[in-house]
Amino acid sequence: MTGLDVERIRAHFDFPRTGRVVTNNAASTQPPRELVELYRELIPWYENVHRGQSTASRRTTDLFEDAYDTIARWINAPSRRCLVLGRNTTEAHNAVMYSLLTEFRHGDNVVTTMLEHNSNFVPWYALTHEILPRLGKTVECRPARLDADGNVDLEHLASLVDRHTKLICCTGASNFTGSRPDLAILRRIADASGYLQPTGERRSRLLIDGAQLVPGRAVDVQREDVDYLSFSFHKMLAPFGVGVLYAKEHLLRHGRPFLYGGDMIAEGRVFPDHVDYNDLPWKYSAGTPNILGVIVSAQALRLLADLTASSERPLFGGTGSFPYAVTQRTMDRLARHTAQLTGRAHRALAAIDGLTIYGPRERAPLIAFNRTGTDPFTLAKALDQRGVEARAGCHCATLAHHALRLDPPASCRLSFAVYNNEEDVDRAVEAVAAG
Ligand code: PLP
Repeated sequence: MTGLDVERIRAHFDFPRTGRVVTNNAASTQPPRELVELYRELIPWYENVHRGQSTASRRTTDLFEDAYDTIARWINAPSRRCLVLGRNTTEAHNAVMYSLLTEFRHGDNVVTTMLEHNSNFVPWYALTHEILPRLGKTVECRPARLDADGNVDLEHLASLVDRHTKLICCTGASNFTGSRPDLAILRRIADASGYLQPTGERRSRLLIDGAQLVPGRAVDVQREDVDYLSFSFHKMLAPFGVGVLYAKEHLLRHGRPFLYGGDMIAEGRVFPDHVDYNDLPWKYSAGTPNILGVIVSAQALRLLADLTASSERPLFGGTGSFPYAVTQRTMDRLARHTAQLTGRAHRALAAIDGLTIYGPRERAPLIAFNRTGTDPFTLAKALDQRGVEARAGCHCATLAHHALRLDPPASCRLSFAVYNNEEDVDRAVEAVAAG
């Protein structure tokens, strides 16, 4: 027993009425009714932010800014000044890439891994193979290999890092093998490189792709000492459209913005030959943002705390601070629940003849597998005919599928969220066995 009242949690969602077995949560989660209704409730005061003296604009601005505070609180960031809110995790990785573009020196390297989602490999590939060479700089992209269990081989990764490694980019949890590299080891490897950053620090920067990590466990950015952390709210109950880049404040202060234009400039400080940028976090918020999406996304966190009964007072619908212990309790309860479901699925799937499961036993709440003699696309379609939603493909973890020599580079994946119950797992397993 994990202490979560899953049936009560499911009552907040519309999908159970359809009979769907929603087990493709690593792609996107379902939105609870409260969040959809919240969009409606915000409409009477619908206005742009930072651009008007009207009560509506000021009111919306207050909610928008408070949303930054809630998100910062959730990951224990020192303040909203450490946040860049964009569309998704992919945009966050590109923001880091463009922000650091001018800092790279001839002879530098970026160390990444064969386990990355394409969003945390292709930007570094493009930077090192396409962009910097045109600027006359040679910078290497070095992917660390996988071990036999589908983990990043951290010894190999360490061997790729040297005093020319500006940045290490690594997934916090793989969306294919479910493996969760040890962030403390990665930090130690980054610290030992001796790379001289323009800020005077002597260590490599560490970017953690948190797209599958942050929805699964509490991540305290100060304790983990990550330089950059990315994640997407569409994997955390909120509707599509908002992603987060956390970065240490001094890096954002020192770095170049990714997008240039309105709202990211200091009021009145644009001249033909000189521009001053806005204070953080708005320096990284050019143009009209996804205002309602940001407000609703922050409320998704508050609602998640309520659904898991982790706060002494209800947080949803409110503003203002809450202790970081709320995040910890929420995510601990959620993690216990999804680990139990994942373990149940793992045990049952492992007993099916001809099924190969990828990844280590200790994993994020997802399981990818292949069945001898059935291609994963056919298998996923067979599951769908039984109402079970899976995903077949390479899940954008293309390098890892190649590394495991999968031909075609594809697998079928089930993944679990706070609202899944044991019946979902059993129906999914039965469908795989029958498929
Ligand atoms: N990184 C990982 C590990 C993911 O699982 C995903 C999405 O599945 C992404 C990055 C990209 O997220 P988004 O599509 O929200 O940019």
